[in-house]
This record gives sequence, C-alpha cells and structure tokens, in this order.
Amino acid sequence: MAYKTIIGLEIHVELATKHKIFCNCPNEYGAEANTLVCPICLGLPGALPVLDKEALEYGIKAGIAFNGSISNIIKMDRKNYFYPDLTKGYQISQAEIPFCDGGYIEIELEEGTKKITLNRIHIEEDTGKQLHSEDGMTLIDFNRAGVPLIEIVTNPDINSAEEAKLFLDKLRAILKYIGVSNVKMEEGSLRCDVNINVVNTKSNVKSNITEIKNLNSFKAVVKAIEFEEKRHIELLEAGSNTDRETRRWDETKGETIIMRKKFGVSDYRFAEDGDIPPIKIAGEWIEEIRKSLPELPHAKKERFIKEYNLSDYDAGVLTQSKELSIFFEDTLKYIDDSKLVSNWIMGDVLRRLNDDEIEIEESNLKPKDLAELLILIRDGKINNNTGKKVLKEMFDTGKSPETIVKEKGLIQISDEGALKEIIEKVLSENEQSIIDYKNGKDRALGFLVGQIMKASRGKANPQLVNKMLLEIINER
Ligand code: ZN
Ligand code: MN
Repeated sequence: MAYKTIIGLEIHVELATKHKIFCNCPNEYGAEANTLVCPICLGLPGALPVLDKEALEYGIKAGIAFNGSISNIIKMDRKNYFYPDLTKGYQISQAEIPFCDGGYIEIELEEGTKKITLNRIHIEEDTGKQLHSEDGMTLIDFNRAGVPLIEIVTNPDINSAEEAKLFLDKLRAILKYIGVSNVKMEEGSLRCDVNINVVNTKSNVKSNITEIKNLNSFKAVVKAIEFEEKRHIELLEAGSNTDRETRRWDETKGETIIMRKKFGVSDYRFAEDGDIPPIKIAGEWIEEIRKSLPELPHAKKERFIKEYNLSDYDAGVLTQSKELSIFFEDTLKYIDDSKLVSNWIMGDVLRRLNDDEIEIEESNLKPKDLAELLILIRDGKINNNTGKKVLKEMFDTGKSPETIVKEKGLIQISDEGALKEIIEKVLSENEQSIIDYKNGKDRALGFLVGQIMKASRGKANPQLVNKMLLEIINER
C-alpha cells in the first residue's frame, strides 16, 4: 500500500546580536550561570521590556533572505504557559501578525528543484535553561532567558527525511551566509521541531499529526522522521491511528517517546503584550537591510558557473558553505586556474574535511598554501601523487608546501640523466618484463613504470618516465 509522508518543520534560531531582545544584557553563550541577567530578563514585576533594534534587523535580514514579505508593523504578544525556566509565566512572542509572512527555500532533488514554502517567521524571546543534575536536582540558568529567537515555520511541503535534511542544510547555509546566527546545534542556537503524519494515497486515510520536539542534530531529525513514518503506517495498517501528541527523540533507544498530549492554541491564551506598543517599520529601513545582504548561495552558484566555467554540480558544492566559497575564491587570487583549484577542493580537500568532520575554516589549510602546492605540481616540481602526500602533511601540520617539500626532499626528478640511470637499473633487474612487453603484454610496461617510481621513492616525473622508458625499450 502506498503512503505519502507529510512533514512541516518549526525551527528556532538564536540570533547572534550583541544584546538580549528586551534588555541590555550581553547575548553570549557559555558564561558562568546567572551572570548575564537583569530585572527585565528575569521577568521581575515592574520591569519594562524594550525591543532591541538589532534583533529585529537580524530577523528581517533572515526574512528577506528566505523570500518572505516583511510586515510594516511589529506587534508582540504574550504566550502563556507555566514552565520553571519562564519566570514571567508567559513568553513574549508574536501571534497573529508575525514580522515575516510566507517565503520559501529551494532544495535540489534528483528530479529537479523543489520549493519548500514557509508559513511565517516570528520573533520571540528564548527561555532559561534547565540543568538536570545526576542526584535528581534541577538548576536553572537564566543567561539564555531573553536571547532573541526567530521561529521559522514551514508549510507541510516536505515529504521525506531526505528532503528535511536538504532543507535544513540549505536553511543553515543561508543563515551562515547572512551572519545572523552561529547556527550551532550543539550549543542550541538552532533547534528543530518536526510535525509529521502520513496519508494512504488510495483510501486518503490520514494519521493524526505528531510533533517531535527539540531535536538537536540533523541526524536526529532524519532518524526521528524515519521512526515516526513507520509507526504511523503500522498503526493505520492495523486499523488504528496515532494520537495527537508531542513526543521526543530518545537517542539511546533510537525511538520517539511521548511527552504530553498536544496543547491546543487556545491553551496559550495569546494576548497583546501591553508593555510593548506596536512599532511601525519604515519601508526605507527594510530596503536598507535588503541592500546590505551579501550574495546568497544561489546567486553565488550561478556566478561561479559563469565566471569560473564550473559545472552545476561543482558550483553547488563550492557554494554550499560561505567559508568554502570564500576559500575557493581566495585560492584563485594566487593561482589563476579555476578548474585545477576546484578539482583539488572537490577531491582531496573535501575528503579530508569529511574524514575529520570539520569545516574548512577549522582546518590548517590556507588558500595561499593550497595555491602554492598546485603551482609546484603545475610546474612539474613535484608530481601529482607527491602533491597528495604534501597536502596531507599540510593538513596535519599547517606547514607550507615549500617547507614540506624541502624538509622531505620531495622535489620531482625531471633530470633525464638521473632518470636514465634509474630506468636502466630497473630494466637490468627485470629482463623478463621487457620480453613480455615485446610479446604484446602491455601490462608489463605498467609494472616497469611502477618499479621505476618505487626506485625513485615516488619522486620521478611520471610523464617523463613513460616517455623515456618507451624510447629505451624500443631501441633494444
Ligand atoms: Zn537582562
Ligand atoms: Mn517558539
């Protein structure tokens, strides 16, 4: 039986502003608990919140980058619920009128580009953070209370775990490009909730929507979706259905676990926040913000294709992260060969970053050094294989390629006299291979080249070895 999965995401993103959203406390991660607080973010009676202009600016930047339409009025509302890390008993958020309406993000699927539309983006304050100790105590750190958040809510346009992952990758990349958030899931600056159900495409019977809260890695998002897909289908197949409920992902058990029955919107008793009057937004300010946006991944990809003559795929990979795209262009400042640079980044460089599970900016590799390495190869000072070894050493030690090549004596042997000596020696030790080659066994030639490279400790110029070897054998 055929089922279609329907997924909507809600993503909370902490904005990397200087101050919290309604007070002047610094917005910083990792400070000693409860040192970055004041009467406003502690929610003490009588304290008056004032909306931070930078927080709103960052929010609007994201809204524009995600193709949404920005509201010309900002209204803040109270969302009431009781939670130990929310001292006021309500969170200041936005209800009917979010600062950004609609929008979309495009993802690349094998069958083409798919538009995932957004329902809205609103701005709100983060809560404090509960720390559960091993002896069963719960402590609360209010440093996070009042950190500005935007909540990005998609329409239910996502149909698989893979699409969700692609969407989140793109979302994170764009947020990084525009620099409004650190988007570090491990520090909680990007958190994702999943709403999911399935529909039987023949009978049109649907399961009830389940919400999975606070997923803290993209891997967890993928696994939780796959787990829920299966659970929903199994229940429908058994003639039953899912409950409308909120669940959480248990990483060790590898399953979702019920937290509570779903709240209805009315449970939150939304009401306008009387402390913060509505704010009118000047159209010129929105235009100014629009103009301040950097080149976004899609535009950069198109430019890379045109300017550097790259394939669609290569340009897509190179612009995936802002830092990688900058690294690529910075390398080109030192060597004018986009194809060569792109090949090396797409190959050995990305493989190494993948193995180490780090980003380019966290590695020892510098654009100037990569360019130097490629120039050594291009000029025949070292061969390709040696180049790969030097690159590994550059990643390991951060040393420049010139230094590594000098220290290890890796300069390629292109001196014909020296090469001839090595070739003659190898041939005298492998008479049988010469006979084999003359009898039409081409493999014998490959074997001889291998022996010569080995005898030169990898330093022989391979093109020259091939050419000279043929000449010498054919003369015999
Ligand atoms: Zn404060
Ligand atoms: Mn929220």
